[in-house]
Amino acid sequence: MFDLQSTSVVVTGGSKGIGRGIAAVFATAGANVTIAARSTAELDSAVADLETLGAGKVLGVQTDVADPAACAGLAAAAIDAFGGIDVVCANAGIFPDAPLATMTPAQLSEVLDVNVKGTVFIVQACLDALIGSGRGRVILTSSITGPITGFPGWSHYGASKSAQLGFMRTAAIELAPHGITVNAVLPGNIYTEGLYDKGPEYIAGMTAAIPAGVLGKPEDIGHLAAFLATVEAGYITGQAIAVDGGQVLPESPDAVRP
Ligand code: NAP
Repeated sequence: MFDLQSTSVVVTGGSKGIGRGIAAVFATAGANVTIAARSTAELDSAVADLETLGAGKVLGVQTDVADPAACAGLAAAAIDAFGGIDVVCANAGIFPDAPLATMTPAQLSEVLDVNVKGTVFIVQACLDALIGSGRGRVILTSSITGPITGFPGWSHYGASKSAQLGFMRTAAIELAPHGITVNAVLPGNIYTEGLYDKGPEYIAGMTAAIPAGVLGKPEDIGHLAAFLATVEAGYITGQAIAVDGGQVLPESPDAVRP
């Protein structure tokens, strides 16, 4: 059961943070993993680390997911290296602050281009290979922010993360006849590089809102992605699953630590 050895997996945003955690779980399970990001230095360092984890191979491909031609190049590189694509983790995303009152059209476009169009472009680029796999899997990294919660400065980001779920539901219907499932992981507060510099007070404030009492790890998202990628998860499609230590559950701060 749950065998992912030799599975060909593409992870966008796989050079750091949650994407790297997803790639690490697949690499540990013996999958062949293609990771994509814009910075080649970070890609190279991630490839070197990930290759030590399992029997599979790891490939890094410089890609801007907002560019459909670059997504096509990424898919071609993965097919060339590993003979096909079985799993696509559309994880690359950005979350710059922009309060609604001052948000510019360019700020709005940048977030929608990467988070929404980038999701659609990478799935389109890999589609023929996913169909060829006969058991294709698409796993989107959405967020609790947007689909369930809100946070000041992130109205554009929240809209983009909800838009991914709208895409997911129709894509799941269109692709079901090909044996492809399309699901989304909704991370809560995950301890990634972006948080390291924010200091202990900030981290403590975030942790206090989580019933589990700890921030999530990138691998926590990877474990759900890996399960959704298995043959055994083939009857699950169009679902959005929060991985958040119960963060969205409390009615008020008092509910967390009574
Ligand atoms: P991160 O640490 O900043 O990593 C983002 C990754 O995406 C990097 O590899 C980055 O590499 C890549 N990336 C960004 N823009 C890209 C583009 N245009 N084309 C290709 N790659 C691109 O972020 P993270 O916290 O891991 O977030 C990953 C995903 O999880 C995002 O979709 C985010 O919305 C979601 N999420 C995160 C949290 C959290 O707590 N961290 C919570 C909920 C949801 P380059 O910059 O080199 O391109």
